[in-house]
Amino acid sequence: MAHPDQQPERPAASRRDFIKRTALGAAALGLPGRSIWQPSPLASPIKRRQEERLGYALVGLGNYATYQLAPALQQTQHCYLAGIVTGTPEKAERWKAQYNIPERNIYSYDTFDEIAGNPDIDIVYVVLPNSMHAEYTIRAAQAGKHVLSEKPMAISVAECEAMIAACEAANVHLGVGYRLHFEPHNREVMRIGQEKVFGNIKAVEAGYGFRIGDPAQWRLRKALAGGGALMDVGIYAIQAARYTTGEEPVSLTAQEVKTDPEKFAEVDETLFWQMKFPSGAVSTHTTTYAAYVERLYAAAERGWVELSPAYSYGGLAGRSSQGPLNFPQVYEQALQMDDFAECVATGRKHRASGEMGLQDMKIIEAIYRAVESGGSVEIG
Ligand code: NDP
Repeated sequence: MAHPDQQPERPAASRRDFIKRTALGAAALGLPGRSIWQPSPLASPIKRRQEERLGYALVGLGNYATYQLAPALQQTQHCYLAGIVTGTPEKAERWKAQYNIPERNIYSYDTFDEIAGNPDIDIVYVVLPNSMHAEYTIRAAQAGKHVLSEKPMAISVAECEAMIAACEAANVHLGVGYRLHFEPHNREVMRIGQEKVFGNIKAVEAGYGFRIGDPAQWRLRKALAGGGALMDVGIYAIQAARYTTGEEPVSLTAQEVKTDPEKFAEVDETLFWQMKFPSGAVSTHTTTYAAYVERLYAAAERGWVELSPAYSYGGLAGRSSQGPLNFPQVYEQALQMDDFAECVATGRKHRASGEMGLQDMKIIEAIYRAVESGGSVEIG
C-alpha cells in the first residue's frame, strides 16, 4: 500500500523551486567531485517536506522494480514514486491503483519520450534488461531527465561511453544502481581497505553466484543480457575488489567452465578470474549461475576482513581479525535513491557514477578477452 505521506499529487513548481534553491547550478555537474573511492556520508536522515521531494519514474516493472525499488520509494526521505514506464498495460493499471500514480505519469516504451514535458518526473530509473539500459538512459537524458541505470550499466564499453556523453551533453546526472555503496558492512570493508586499517591489502577473494532457474528467461539470451553470470552478479565481485583496495586493476587472467552447455549456449555460466593491482595486491574471483556463492574476503598486512553474505539486500554479516562487524541492516535501495536525489538537488556527483560503471565494463570486456586468449590481458 502506498503510504498516505507519499501521494504523488503535488505542485511540481515547489519541487522545481527546491532544485533551484539547492542546486549549485549546471556548472556544478562538471566540478571535480570526491574520489570515487572516498566514502561519502550516507543519505541524511533529515525528513524533507513532501512537496520538496523529487519524482522518480521507474522504467520496466519487473522483479527488481516491483519487489525492491517501489517499496523502497515508500521509505525515502527526498524522493517518491511519481511515474512508471511499462510495456504491460495490466501492470500500469495495478501500479496506478497501488501507488496512486496519476494517468499523466504513466508511459509505454512508445510514448516514453513524451516524459520530456512532464515536470513531475525529475529522475528516470532504468530497470530493464541489460541491453536496453543504454537506449533508455540516452533517451531519458535527451528528455532532460536525470538518470539512474541499473547494473550492469550497459553491455559494452562503447555503450557506457555513449551514455556518459549523452548525460554530459544534456547536463543531467548519471548514476548506476550500485546499492552496496550505501550498505554499512560493505562501507566498513571500504574503510578498512582504503584507510589501510590493517595495513596494505595484499589479497582479495570475492565471488557471487546463484543457481539460475527458468531456461527461457532473458538473462540467458545474449541479445538482452549481454553476457551471463559475469554481467549479472560477477560485477559485484569486480566492484568488491575495486572498493576494498581503492585501486584499479591493471591486468587479469580468466578461465571459463560450462557444466550445462545447452542451457548456457549463449552466455557464460561459470567464470574464474584473477586481477593484479598497482600496489601489488592480487584478487581472485568466482561467478556462476550454477551454485550459490556469496563472499568477500580481504587479507591485509596485519589483519583481515570478511563478509558472508556480502552482497544481498539484507542479512549481511561479517567479521574482521578484531571481531564481529556489528552494523545495522539498512534499506539499501532507499538510501541509494535518496542519495541520488540529493545529488540532483545539490549538484554533488553520485559516488556510483557513470565512470564507475564504465570502468567495470572495461574489466568485464577484459575478462571475456582473457577467456578467449587464455593469457594475461591488460585493462585499458
Ligand atoms: P525482470 O525480468 O524481472 O524485469 C524486467 C522488466 O523489463 C520486465 O518485467 C518488463 O517490464 C521489461 N522489459 C521490457 N522489454 C523486455 C524484454 N524484451 N524482455 C524482458 N523484459 C522486458 O528483470 P529484473 O527486474 O530482475 O532486472 C532488471 C534489471 O535490474 C537488470 O538490469 C538487472 O541486472 C537489474 N537488477 C539489479 C539488482 C540490484 O540489486 N541492483 C537486482 C535485480 C536486478 P514491463 O512489463 O513493465 O515492460
